[in-house]
Amino acid sequence: MLGRARRTVVVIDAGSPRNRDADAVHNLCGQEGVAPGRLLARGRQDVSRYGVEIVPGEVAEVRRDGAHTVSRTASGDVLRARAVVLATGVVEDLPAVAGLAALWGRDVVSCPYCHGWEARDKAVAVLGTGPRAWRQVLLMRRYTEDLALLGNGPAGLDDQQLEYVRRTGIAVEEQPVARVRSEDGHLAGIELADGTVLARDVVFAATTRRQPSGLAAELGCLIEVAGVGTDPAGRTSVPGVWAVGSATDPSLTIAGSAGHATGVAIAINDALVDEDLALALRS
Ligand SMILES: Cc1cc2nc3c(=O)[nH]c(=O)nc-3n(C[C@H](O)[C@H](O)[C@H](O)COP(=O)(O)OP(=O)(O)OC[C@H]3O[C@@H](n4cnc5c(N)ncnc54)[C@H](O)[C@@H]3O)c2cc1C
Repeated sequence: MLGRARRTVVVIDAGSPRNRDADAVHNLCGQEGVAPGRLLARGRQDVSRYGVEIVPGEVAEVRRDGAHTVSRTASGDVLRARAVVLATGVVEDLPAVAGLAALWGRDVVSCPYCHGWEARDKAVAVLGTGPRAWRQVLLMRRYTEDLALLGNGPAGLDDQQLEYVRRTGIAVEEQPVARVRSEDGHLAGIELADGTVLARDVVFAATTRRQPSGLAAELGCLIEVAGVGTDPAGRTSVPGVWAVGSATDPSLTIAGSAGHATGVAIAINDALVDEDLALALRS
């Protein structure tokens, strides 16, 4: 959108999109099943046609300098720009259980909308406690009758939740989880503290989400839960700094993030056009 609006755009990307470990992308109409890396490569090819430059690297610092925003990369390069867009996503932290991380994105996942279909009618475990784990239980019950909630300690269910698990036959396990076993890159069982090994096909882990770095906070942007706070146009609380996609709302999907970014790009271009008009009238 900004490239086609003939803006000079540089994307500095550390190259770790959140779904990088997944085999396929779902819920993206017209691209169902495409590999995440392939989708990204296609997107990069598309934007390069409009002069958008993609620079691999990590931004270590962003600060305001008069009317400009100055970004410094970890390797010391400095870019001055009229607007900066935080499109930095979020990081999902897994529960601290040995072996989980090795299977992340395949047999260990977190989003029923992204992976529920593939887990249908399989032996599924939800690992974790709190509202996020409970939501995963309710959503995954729609896909399978073979469901277990592993609290990795007390599951903390209230009376209503206990009544629901009893009525629906959901197994609740409150022993600590010792480790997740894998074999040939697949989940081979979940070992509990007493040595029992549960046979499960897929684990939905109740992850916690956070900003990938202190960039937004150091700039002075408001952080709401795990997302950078913005107005509906994508403006953060810091002039010249915008934020898009899952950096603003960790629950956004790929289509949601891209759709949000499209609207924000229009708002940025409009704001720059207005700035140019004011400048032209002043001179
Ligand atoms: C395992 C898994 C599977 C998923 N499957 C699906 C699916 O099937 N369908 C779906 O719609 N959604 C899926 N999602 C969600 C999807 O990954 C997100 O919706 C999407 O990645 C959000 O896009 P984004 O551009 O906002 O952030 P991201 O894709 O996370 O991109 C952020 C980018 O910013 C970079 N970055 C961060 N900090 C810096 C910095 N300081 N300097 C430079 N670069 C930086 C990162 O390296 C990364 O490349 C899945 C998520 C996971 C975890």
